[in-house]
Parts: sequence; structure tokens; C-alpha cells
Amino acid sequence: MNLKMHALLLEDVPKDAELLKEMLLDEGFDIQIDVVETESAYVSSLKSHNYDIIYADFTLPSFNGQEALVLAKIICPYVPFICISGTIGEDRAVELLKQGATDYVLKDRMERLPFATKRALDAAFQLSKFRRTEIELQTNRKLLQTIINNAIDTIYIKDLHGNYLLINEAAEKAIGKTSAEVIGKDDTFFFSASEAQMIKGLDKKVLERRVSQTFEEIVTLADGNIHVFSTIKSPMFDDFGEPTGLFGIARDITERKEMENSLIEAKEKAEESDRLKTAFLHNISHEIRTPMNAIVGFSGFLSDPDLVHEKRKQFTDIIIQSSDQLLSIITDIISIASIEAGQEKAIEKEFDLNITLKQLHEQFLIVAKRKNVSLNLVPSLTYIEDNVISDGTKLVQILSNLIVNALKFMKEGHVNFGYVVKDTEIEFFVEDTGIGIPHEMHTEIFKRFRQVETSATRQFGGSGLGLSISKAYVEILGGKIWLNSVINKGSTFYFTIPYKKAQKKTISEQASNIFKKETKQITTLLIAEDEDSNFMMLEELLSDLNSNIIRAINGLEAVEICKINKQIDLVLMDIKMPVMDGYDATRQIRSFMPTLPIIAQTAYTTNADRNKALACGCNDFISKPFNREMIISKIKEQLYKE
Ligand code: ADP
Repeated sequence: MNLKMHALLLEDVPKDAELLKEMLLDEGFDIQIDVVETESAYVSSLKSHNYDIIYADFTLPSFNGQEALVLAKIICPYVPFICISGTIGEDRAVELLKQGATDYVLKDRMERLPFATKRALDAAFQLSKFRRTEIELQTNRKLLQTIINNAIDTIYIKDLHGNYLLINEAAEKAIGKTSAEVIGKDDTFFFSASEAQMIKGLDKKVLERRVSQTFEEIVTLADGNIHVFSTIKSPMFDDFGEPTGLFGIARDITERKEMENSLIEAKEKAEESDRLKTAFLHNISHEIRTPMNAIVGFSGFLSDPDLVHEKRKQFTDIIIQSSDQLLSIITDIISIASIEAGQEKAIEKEFDLNITLKQLHEQFLIVAKRKNVSLNLVPSLTYIEDNVISDGTKLVQILSNLIVNALKFMKEGHVNFGYVVKDTEIEFFVEDTGIGIPHEMHTEIFKRFRQVETSATRQFGGSGLGLSISKAYVEILGGKIWLNSVINKGSTFYFTIPYKKAQKKTISEQASNIFKKETKQITTLLIAEDEDSNFMMLEELLSDLNSNIIRAINGLEAVEICKINKQIDLVLMDIKMPVMDGYDATRQIRSFMPTLPIIAQTAYTTNADRNKALACGCNDFISKPFNREMIISKIKEQLYKE
């Protein structure tokens, strides 16, 4: 069904207007015609209606067809415009057509009007169809561009030579170039030669195989970082099936890859740690059983009444040595647990560095001599400068671990140890002429349970914990640890700590201490200890001290004794006791004897235990088991401190 046509007619002669209407109706046009006479009515009608066609008389009193055409082209440029005139010269007619009129009809040949109308309407219909397609095309193109540009993935199209024809905003951002800079260029302009070659190789594969393929591409982007892309590349074809280029969508999967890699790494680490723990348990069992075997076996022999003195001495030495070995393994395991729990902190105090090192030297000389190895100490600071502030206990532990290893992993030669001061750091070294460590193990050996030799036939004992403890301690002290080593020539371990100088004690201070030591002779010691065997051992260890020993069998008794006996010079306080424990007892004694030295002696060994004892009012702390030198030096330190 044809829709009713709507036309505008600009005509000042009503008769002519009537004639035009009739003519069109007679020819079968279903048409409604609005007639206007003036310019203003013409303009307002054009603005308020969508006309299918405009007819305009060329000559009007104050307006003409030409001006009407200009206005129509501005207001509704696609509506067909037919000019109707009395007489019009050929030039004027051509000019009108040039200006966009669809046709013109002479008033004395009005029979042409239906034909001219039909032709103008057909042409307008064709034009509007064409325009609609064009608009649709434009809209689709815009939509596509919006989708492509809003995609997070980079999208591009290349021709058969690898030159870019299109890239989206994500691609612009990734390579740091605008679309205008990229179009017409290939990958060698944006990527390194090797990266461009890799991309071209993959493009070639897709074009040769004529199917879409997904690849992982690793390239350096404008941000200077290496990125991993998962890219789908698809070949494009013309209507004859000939390839015309390549279409690519690339997704940045760098973060996902990193996450995957760290998961794989974590999994491998967990498996490795599991393997190492199994190996450790195997080892540690061996390391514990060996000294235990000696202790159990030789303790049995001691009870033989016929045992000659020499043998008894020899067996006792073996028992002591094995006990030390056992203790050091247990200490290592506890230290590692404490490091892992983050409980190890530096407890800084001032101490004489040279004296500390000299004591270490003396301590290890016996082992060195037994192995026929010369052990030399090379200090660097003078007596005046060597009073430093650090955690001396941890420093001794680190050096002991390194010296033990140096002596353990060698048959003959020498071990030198000492330090040099480098600006704000003290650099320690322990150098040996032992078996050396292969280069690939230089970082590994600082990991827990890591040993160079892991076979069951290994010649050297050990738990594989010493170096990881040393590394953790060095870091707690604020330094770093490393080594140089040559196989069969030897190794040198180095570590640093910050050089914090303390005030040197004056000679007169030292003398007054010595004086104090000499004036105080007989001492009264209170030992709070519930275990008989422990008390007996303490009594024996302190027998050289020339002291009166009083015993309390629990914390409460210790408090009572301190209340009535003002002669007590020092208390050795066990922590775990019945009735009242050592913590409470110390707190109570402190309330009425604020300066009495109290040393906690306990089988609890961690820093937290130590800190708790100190917080309750103990002056110092000693872990069981201890030997004569250790306990006596602690007691003397408290009794004779200035
Ligand atoms: P342990 O000595 O108890 O096995 P460490 O953690 O102290 O554990 O040492 C780990 C490993 O490093 C040792 O098993 C050994 O293989 C190697 N190592 C350490 N110090 C030396 C050294 N001075 N010479 C040769 N090898 C060493």
C-alpha cells in the first residue's frame, strides 16, 4: 500500500495552485499539498514537516524560486525540489539544476508535471536508500572501532608483507606509538631484531598453514619491561580465497605467567624442603645416635671397679666430648626453630672484641692441635679501639660455626681467623686450607640442611644447620656473609657487622675491678633447685669457689630464706619448681632485695625464656646444661661487676 504523499507548494496564485493539485490527483497521486505564499510561511513549513517533495513558483512578489531552493537545501537537503515557472531562460534553468533543483516545469507545459514528480520521487527514493546504507555502514564502522578500541587485548591487522593496516588503542599503548605512526610499518620498527624475527616467523606459519593458531610471544614493550602475550593469529582471505593479510588478538598474560611461575617455584621449594627434611631426619638420627652410643656405652664401663685410672680418664673424656657434640646438635635445632619463629633478636652490649676472639682462639686450640692444624688469630684493632657494641653471644656463635667447619673439613694445614675494619663495618674472616666448596654450592650451603656431600658414605658429620644459623645471625646483626673457595685449596668465609665503637674503660676502672675482686673472699650462694641431681652437680661445679651454699627446694622457700638471711650474695634460681616457680620467686625477692644478684638457671633455652626471666628481675640467665667455666664466669660477672 502506497503511503499518502505530503508536498509543499510555494505559489501566490490560488488558481495555479488548484490546477497543480488537480493535475496530480488526476494522474493518481495520493497527495496532500500545503500551499504557502510568503518566505516566512515557507521556512516555517519546511522546519515543521517532513515533506516528500517541494514545488516552487519561480516568480513571487517578494521572493523567488531560486531563494526558495537555497533555503530548501539548507533545511532539508534531500527533499526533491521542482521549480515551476512562466518563462525561464535556459541559462537560469541550468543554474537552478546546478544549485540542486531536481527539475523544472514550464507553466505552459504543465502536463510534464506528473512525469517530473514521479522521476524526482524515484531519484529521491534511490538516494535515500543509498544514504541509509551509507549511514548504516558508518554506524557499523563506528561500532566496530569502539569495540576494537575498548578491548583490553591488543588487536591488529597486517598485510601480507607484515605491514600494519590497523591497530587498536591497547596496541598503541603497548608499543607507545600512535596508529598514524604504526600504519604502513612492520614489527622491526617497534621491537628488537630478534623479537621482530620471532613475530614474523609466527605470522609466516599462520599464512602458510591458512588456519588460526595461538602462540605465546615474549616481547619488550614501551614501558621497558618484558611482557608475555597469548596471541591468536588468523589469516584473512579475499573473495577468491587468496590470503590478504593477518588478523591478531594478543592478550597480556605476564601477571598470570609470573603467578604460575611463582606457584611452580613454591611447589618445587615445598618438595625440595620435604626432601631435605627427610634427608635431615635421616642425618640427624645418625648424628644423635653416634654420641648417644658413646655416652651410653662408656658410662656403663665407668661402673667397673677394676677400671684402671688411665682408661677411666679416657672414657670420661669421650663421654664429655660426645655430650658436647649432642648438645651442639640440640642447640642448633632449637636455634633454627627460634629463627624460623622470628624470635631471635640482637641483644646489644659492649664487649672487648679482641678478648672475645682470644677466648675463642683458646677454646679451639685444643681441637686444632688434636688435628695437627695451626689455628691463628689475626686481630686488627688496638686495645684502645676494640670495645664495641653488638650482640657478642651471636658473634661468638657465628665465628664458632665457621671455625668448627674450617677445622672439620680439612686434614692438615692452617686456619686463620680475625677481622679488619672497613669504614663503618667490621669484616671478619675464617680462612682454611681444607677441601674447598664447589662454586655451584656457594649459595646452597647457606640453606637449611644443605650439605655438599649427601651420600651415606660421607666422611664428615654435621646437621647442615650451622651456616644457615650463621647467615640468619649475621643478618640479625645487620651484616652479610659470603665466601671464596677453591676445590682442594681451601675456603675463606667472610661476614660483616656494623662497627659501633663503645667507650674504652680506663686503666683505673680496670684496677678498681681487680681490687674489688680481691677484697671479696667468702661468698654465700642460695641455690633454688628442686632436683637433687641438679643440686648435687651445682654443688660440685662450685666447689672451687670458696663459698657457703644454701639450698631451697622450691621458689617459696627461696623467698623465705632471702627474708631471714641477709648474708646471701647471689641466688641461682631454677625456673621450673613446685609450689612457686622461679619467675614468681624472683619477683618477690626483688620487692625487698632490689640489688641482690639473681641468675636464672634453666633448661628453657629460647630468647623468649631468657627475656621473661630478665623481665621478672633476674640479672642474668644460663641454660642447662652448663660446665664449670660457664657457671663460674656468670657468677663472677655478677659478684664483681662495678
Ligand atoms: P654442617 O657442617 O653441620 O654439615 P653447615 O651448615 O655448617 O652444616 O655447612 C653446610 C655444608 O657446607 C657442609 O656440610 C659442607 O659440605 C660445606 N662447608 C661448610 N664449611 C666448609 C668448609 N670450611 N670447607 C668445606 N666445606 C664446607
